[in-house]
Amino acid sequence: MIARPSRPHTPMRPLWRCRNCGAEWPCQPARLSLLSEYRHDRTGLLIYLGTLMVEAGQQLAQLNEHQVPDLSDRFVAWARARG
Ligand SMILES: [Zn+2]
Repeated sequence: MIARPSRPHTPMRPLWRCRNCGAEWPCQPARLSLLSEYRHDRTGLLIYLGTLMVEAGQQLAQLNEHQVPDLSDRFVAWARARG
């Protein structure tokens, strides 16, 4: 058993890094928990991620002097149904 405080892997705005592990959000644990949370609603997950991607794009663009990073791989592509 790993004794670790269960801090959720949620994004820290406006940097969009994980509060727990510091990786770019959604980090791997965040992806896994989203996939399990939305396992019966893949469309809902994609809509949710799309909304977050827009928000992150706006906030990151302000930090990056208005260069909008391409976030579609990071936020959405991994969640599309496979196969
Ligand atoms: Zn994390």
